Amino acid sequence: MLLTEMNKEELSAFRSECEKEYEGYKAKGMKLDMSRGKPSTEQLDLAMPMFDVFTNAASMLTSDGIDCRNYGCLTGIHDAKVLFGDLLGVKEEELIIGGNSSLAMMFDTVSRAMTHGLYGSEKPWGKYDKVKFLCPVPGYDRHFAICESFGIEMINIPMHSDGPDMDMIEKLVSEDETVKGIWCVPLYSNPDGIAYSDETVKRFANLSPKASDFRIFWDNAYCVHHLTDTPDKILNIFDECKKTGKEDMVLIFASTSKISFSGAGVAIMAGSVNNMKQITKLMGIQCISYDKINQLRHVKYFKSVDGIMEHMAKHRAIIAPKFNLVLDMLDSEVGELGILEWNKPNGGYFISVNTLEGCAKRVVQLCAEAGVVLTSAGATFPYGKDPHDRNIRIAPTYPPLAELEAAMKIFCVSVKLASAENLSK
Ligand code: PMP
Repeated sequence: MLLTEMNKEELSAFRSECEKEYEGYKAKGMKLDMSRGKPSTEQLDLAMPMFDVFTNAASMLTSDGIDCRNYGCLTGIHDAKVLFGDLLGVKEEELIIGGNSSLAMMFDTVSRAMTHGLYGSEKPWGKYDKVKFLCPVPGYDRHFAICESFGIEMINIPMHSDGPDMDMIEKLVSEDETVKGIWCVPLYSNPDGIAYSDETVKRFANLSPKASDFRIFWDNAYCVHHLTDTPDKILNIFDECKKTGKEDMVLIFASTSKISFSGAGVAIMAGSVNNMKQITKLMGIQCISYDKINQLRHVKYFKSVDGIMEHMAKHRAIIAPKFNLVLDMLDSEVGELGILEWNKPNGGYFISVNTLEGCAKRVVQLCAEAGVVLTSAGATFPYGKDPHDRNIRIAPTYPPLAELEAAMKIFCVSVKLASAENLSK
């Protein structure tokens, strides 16, 4: 029965039942964490053979004879550019292989834009009274934190099932010279798990920004992170931008943080030769060269895109059951009450749920008091402000199945209780 259709007595009885169940869980004093999208230990173990790829100094030479133990190759070794170029569908000269974090590359890009400007900038962004970014919501909190740290004003763009609201984006970028960028996670978006449709990607490639240095920050963090036999596919934005003659407009990011080791993988950035050259020049002042040993280790271990895909199938075998458990429990525990909506993602790291209006904070609070840590409510919106207090991001990958089940029981009863409280007001 829908909770919204219950009469006063029914709702009050439902609420008492939930309180009883909730107090029972609380008394157990559990400590469970569903807050951050981290791979589980089992997933990390998959890549351990990567540490056996070097047998002697000679094995640390690249195929073109570069000694990875020494300085050099600022933008990455040739072998890594071949592998990751294949992965992203870009050429060697359109790539920079960085350090251990794509987020750091995004931060550095915004930072350089503020202080030095980007290719095509009339002046550094920091010289404007105001700089704005478009932020599809819900989105990735760390993207928003970058903007906030530089005082960049963020404008919420609603997400639809085929990507962000393109009408709104087209209008805003074409009218306002201070709109300088947009954050996109085009495949298995964080947190909704949405894939941008072909039409959405084409509309991005056709944008006509007023700012000469507007950039699409295309964070393809989950490009190989499929969970089902029917993975979503997206168009290559770079190819589309080349067709429209706007290849300077997009910067692509990815990393192996959720392929090999989190925070100890390889980060990648791709874009037009104009962009890569401008960035490399400044990067060379910041750094002599990145960790080529790690780059070669990845190449030797994965060998090819097929090798990466085989490895990701092993990840899927570990985490798909966790996603299924969460989805099954949502269905069985709250499915018929009409108090929660959620997506069934074909990949990525999250399940995003929407409570009744004004309930998300309370759910997170109830969970916390019963020992389950969730990402704070509002985190998926700029400034931590979810205007309707509805969205919660569930990260199922890290806890073992049994813990996840226990955490989800507490989560579901918390949703029921918060909803009943809200409807009783
Ligand atoms: N982008 C997105 C969308 C993410 O969810 C994450 C977290 N894995 C990152 C970037 C961070 O990646 P990295 O470890 O390469 O900095």
